[in-house]
Amino acid sequence: VPPTAVELPDHDFIVSKPLPVRRAAPKQKGSTHAYGTEKTEYLMDRNIHKAFPVIIRGKGNYLYTKDGRIILDTTTGAAVSCLGHGDKRVIQAIARQMETGITYLATSFFGNNTVEALCKELINGTDRQMARVYLTGSGSEAMEAAVKLSRQYFYEQDQNTRRVSYIAREGSYHGNTLGALGISGHVARRAPYLPFLMKNVHHVSSCNFYRQRQGRETTDAFVARKAAELDAKFQELGPETVIGFVAEPIVGAALGCVPYVPGYLKAMRKVCHKYGALFILDEVMCGMGRSGTLHAWQAEGVAPDLQTIGKGLGGGYQPIAAVLISKKVFDVFSDGSGQFVHGQTYQGMPIQAAAALEVQKIVREEKLCDNVRIQGDYLGQLLKQLLGNHPNVGDIRGMGLFWGLEFVKDRDTKEPFDPKIGVAQKIQELALSEPHNMTIYPGTGTAGGLSGDHVMLCPAYIVTKEDIHHIAHTTAAVVKEFFSHGL
Ligand code: PLP
Repeated sequence: VPPTAVELPDHDFIVSKPLPVRRAAPKQKGSTHAYGTEKTEYLMDRNIHKAFPVIIRGKGNYLYTKDGRIILDTTTGAAVSCLGHGDKRVIQAIARQMETGITYLATSFFGNNTVEALCKELINGTDRQMARVYLTGSGSEAMEAAVKLSRQYFYEQDQNTRRVSYIAREGSYHGNTLGALGISGHVARRAPYLPFLMKNVHHVSSCNFYRQRQGRETTDAFVARKAAELDAKFQELGPETVIGFVAEPIVGAALGCVPYVPGYLKAMRKVCHKYGALFILDEVMCGMGRSGTLHAWQAEGVAPDLQTIGKGLGGGYQPIAAVLISKKVFDVFSDGSGQFVHGQTYQGMPIQAAAALEVQKIVREEKLCDNVRIQGDYLGQLLKQLLGNHPNVGDIRGMGLFWGLEFVKDRDTKEPFDPKIGVAQKIQELALSEPHNMTIYPGTGTAGGLSGDHVMLCPAYIVTKEDIHHIAHTTAAVVKEFFSHGL
């Protein structure tokens, strides 16, 4: 009998032996152990009619449900976790900050050592390529702040600046608030709100080698084609009207872990700088270690002018995100009005900063980015071994602990499934049901036909080789079982 939630032993925190999750939990009265058993009565969420498994405890890589199941957490929410659940060091850091009595901070009145220490840690983590940190409560808010910072950057230099537009990418997701959604190229999430979204945002194609490669095109030729497309967009809009180009180095939610092609970031930055525009990277999902380097751009050595981070920054312990600001941008504010015309009540965030500082210190001191690279390579290798020839798996791609599988009706034509079927959603539900008991993050062809259904795997950075083995084999079992039923 597996441990129940109340009598969990401490030692299953970091697992280095075959996992217990395969054992069926004892059924409780009224429990079906299918996907979910309880509907929410008061919480307003996206899926109003769905019944969910109810989780009551988290530890390491595991979640424990009210009806006695043990779930391997392979998505960590939406890719937030570095250290897994319930790390006592982070809990204690939060408690210590609470005990100081400084739980909020009006940054226009006061400074705070915890907040400053976090900012220093973050700047050091960019190899001092970035100069300042603007803290926010979510990735969407960080994108809002990046939009305002980039516009004010030009306004500081000339109040009559003609720089009013952005170039972003199709099949991108930058957040759900109106400014961030306005930049995004996620067709389905934009649709209900189109009348309210910024008009002066223009999209170029994403960087998706699987879907966009022409014939036997090399990566160099592919990158050159993307740079030419961006250059042409600048020319079409008038280069003096463009504030910046915004991109996710590895596309998360919209396309399912689609990484940049080597050379792409450098080529795109070159085009931006040729026209005096800013190069803005959204690393809310792919950053803070998830790709195997602390920042995804570090693998190419291509620092942006502005960068957003989130998710892994607080590691899931507190909601916190940020904009990292280069010296070039900061100097314009410093030499200009000396003010960023923005701000929110809770922006000082000492509690969130305490949590994030502890998470970041542990990631650095325990060299967890190395583990992300090692285990990530192993995960990719296993997924390709187990599913590389499956007739409905079109592409297996990723970097670090950020892997995506894209499903197709036909591998040769790459024809996606009808989004109405909800292939990815159904795969997620199957994975979370008995006996698989594992989270998988779904994306159901919602990016406007730019990709098919996909799922993402993004476990915490503490995963072991055994965990990866289990994740890959469970994923393969779920995918095979799902498609064996026929659609
Ligand atoms: N940018 C990217 C790349 C994201 O993946 C997300 C969220 O998934 C956001 C921005 C928005 O972040 P949040 O959900 O914290 O507002």
